Amino acid sequence: MKAKVIGGGLAGCEASYQLLKRGISVTLYEMRPAVFTGAHKTSGLAELVCSNSLKSIDPGTPQGLLKSELKSLDSLILKAAIIAKVPSGTALSVDRESFSHEVEKVLKSFPNFKLIREEVTEIDNYSIVATGPLSSSAMCDAIKGLTGREFLNFYDAISPIVEADSVDMNMAFFASRYGKGDADYLNCGMTKEDYIKFRNALLSGEKVVLREFESKDVFEGCIPIEELARRGEDTMRYGPLRPVGLVDEDGKRYYAVVQLRKEDLLSEMYNMVGFQTNMKYKEQERIFRLIPALSKAEFVRLGSMHKNIYIESPRVLEASLRLKKNHTVFFAGQITGVEGYMESAAMGLLAGINMARLLHNMDPLVFSKKTMIGALSNYVANEPSTFRPMNANIGLLEGLESINKNIRKEQAFKNSTNEIKKILSTLV
Ligand SMILES: Cc1cc2nc3c(=O)[nH]c(=O)nc-3n(C[C@H](O)[C@H](O)[C@H](O)COP(=O)(O)OP(=O)(O)OC[C@H]3O[C@@H](n4cnc5c(N)ncnc54)[C@H](O)[C@@H]3O)c2cc1C
Repeated sequence: MKAKVIGGGLAGCEASYQLLKRGISVTLYEMRPAVFTGAHKTSGLAELVCSNSLKSIDPGTPQGLLKSELKSLDSLILKAAIIAKVPSGTALSVDRESFSHEVEKVLKSFPNFKLIREEVTEIDNYSIVATGPLSSSAMCDAIKGLTGREFLNFYDAISPIVEADSVDMNMAFFASRYGKGDADYLNCGMTKEDYIKFRNALLSGEKVVLREFESKDVFEGCIPIEELARRGEDTMRYGPLRPVGLVDEDGKRYYAVVQLRKEDLLSEMYNMVGFQTNMKYKEQERIFRLIPALSKAEFVRLGSMHKNIYIESPRVLEASLRLKKNHTVFFAGQITGVEGYMESAAMGLLAGINMARLLHNMDPLVFSKKTMIGALSNYVANEPSTFRPMNANIGLLEGLESINKNIRKEQAFKNSTNEIKKILSTLV
């Protein structure tokens, strides 16, 4: 029994692992390094294109709930992330290189796994399509041919990374907000004067002109910093530059604070939290150096913006993630209309499980909407007219309508745990 997985990103790697575990031979096709997307920079599997944070692990949050489900279902992406973890408070952040190596190492440990570095341009039966929001144009044509529908799209942005040695430590301090947990973030304080100057520079900074670009097409969870600056004088201070709960070693508070999060285990690089941007490279260097602690910053990577595509899943997919028109083809990852690293991995897990069931002559599983995985897969398959990319979110979960707000998260966790137990008892 064998299956083809197209795309070695988060979803494709997770799907491959779920298939391999179930005795299915997998050929995984990844087009890098022969062909690159506009955001990937390495040839590694499961490359994280932007932030190195996989968000919260607190099971009381939607992201934490999703992770607890993925843990119970033995997700490769989650296991690799835990191995490659770097300190970042209650978030699960990783050293992206170690993370990618771990994923590749585990997949390659299966004798029935084959990795082919090639761009796929046609979709065969028994394939999982996990080519992501930046699928190659030949693949887009193949998908259009198969589904008979055009793509939907939105814009998403990448934040810059700075070299740790280039941060002026006289102007920066380690602290966690309200002193909770370890002081994992490096904070760059700004006076009101610094902030106003910085905001004015952002307002006049030269941006990259994107074809067909309209600000309404930007994903709300990933607004460029210059767009936040444009929305109002204090918008950034209520967002990524929030100063509340942050004091330096001398007890000093700041008007605004830029936070830097560790990128790697050796702490040689820092990610500028919430600093996704569409400004021209030269402008980014000039403007970000107006942040006092970053006046001499050297950038390992600058920010950029990309068009993300996704299929019109409610019309073409079932909640098992198989294609309505062809029951041997599944879709997984962000291309289905979920958004985010873990959400994409979760859709890989579901597609992998269901492709394995198909090959074992079993009916596909549709997860209950009381689980976050089921809520997301049902959303992409059923949400009609307003279909937009979706993150894990408590509002998607079923069975909480009449539950008091104070105990809703607790109930969500109980419901999800019960449903996952039932699913586990039916899994091969
Ligand atoms: C610019 C940008 C920034 C983002 N930032 C974040 C973030 O900070 N946090 C977050 O949670 N999510 C972020 N996302 C969203 C999203 O969760 C990630 O894109 C995630 O990687 C999606 O996983 P995936 O497996 O669906 O696709 P990908 O991880 O993109 O994997 C798809 C793979 O398919 C390969 N491929 C494409 N076409 C072909 C082909 N024809 N043949 C063979 N291989 C092919 C690609 O090279 C790639 O390796 C971002 C997305 C973008 C585009």
